Amino acid sequence: MRAMTLLVMLLILASCGGSGGGGSDSGQREQETTTGGTTDGNTTGSSGGSKIDLTYDSALSTQELTSIKKSMNVLESLKISGSKVEGFSEVFGGNSTSNVIRYLNQRVNYIFSQNTEYDSRLVLNAFQSPNGFSFYAKNPSSYIWYTSVINEPRDVKIIINNQPIDISSSRIGVVNLGDIFVESDAITQAITIVHEARHSDCPNGAKASEIQRWFNGLGPIDRTCGQLHGFCAEGGSCDLLPWGPYAIDFIYSKAIADACTNCSELQKQQGQVNANFVQEAAYDIQGTLDGKYGNPNMGNSKTVRDDL
Ligand SMILES: [Zn+2]
Repeated sequence: MRAMTLLVMLLILASCGGSGGGGSDSGQREQETTTGGTTDGNTTGSSGGSKIDLTYDSALSTQELTSIKKSMNVLESLKISGSKVEGFSEVFGGNSTSNVIRYLNQRVNYIFSQNTEYDSRLVLNAFQSPNGFSFYAKNPSSYIWYTSVINEPRDVKIIINNQPIDISSSRIGVVNLGDIFVESDAITQAITIVHEARHSDCPNGAKASEIQRWFNGLGPIDRTCGQLHGFCAEGGSCDLLPWGPYAIDFIYSKAIADACTNCSELQKQQGQVNANFVQEAAYDIQGTLDGKYGNPNMGNSKTVRDDL
């Protein structure tokens, strides 16, 4: 927080001081910035100059761009006697247009179009675990869908290769490769993707309460949507429901180990190693395979149930 304040102050100083600088506005008029001179009253240090320093977003329409530039030109040209207006110098720190410009330069930096929502320009960068948490892969698809549900009736899309893609359900099917993925053998990688695919399922639809919990940064109570893991008794990640991703992981691993007609011995071993590895992470795998929980619901629902 303190670093942020310092940064902001430095930016203000940079925008107020000296000559040059200039905005990113290409088609602007003369760029020299006057220092001092026109200010009167209680400004401290250098003045705000006489030019408004704005960056105009490229998505502005021609009409909008013309309007904002014209109005700022007019503002810059106004000769104002602020001393005749109550409260003026208290707000602007002086009595002239240069003080208003200074005020603006500290507070308005970017101009967006009426058609640009600020959040469409926000970028959520990948979370960097301070402990270097390792993983094979992850599937955030149910959360991507939750994000679109939360923003209804606004339309949320996900940009893939510069194209906006519709998000209509958790079957959007986005998988992040983890750091261990590239170091693994092809069989383990294939099993990993089969596991991740199960996380795209929301068999009974979503509960509004779960969407809200996620939005508030709380862990899930009902793990059905997204077939989410929980903690194992001994720690680590486990299915808390039958037919979850680790069960599918185990079954597919066993298929490679026991039922692949063109797998090499090494590949079969890799399948068996993985089966052993995930067996305990699946929820009561023996009971599941014995039919204790019925057949899996491999379907998907886009329904959101309001349980709030
Ligand atoms: Zn998983």
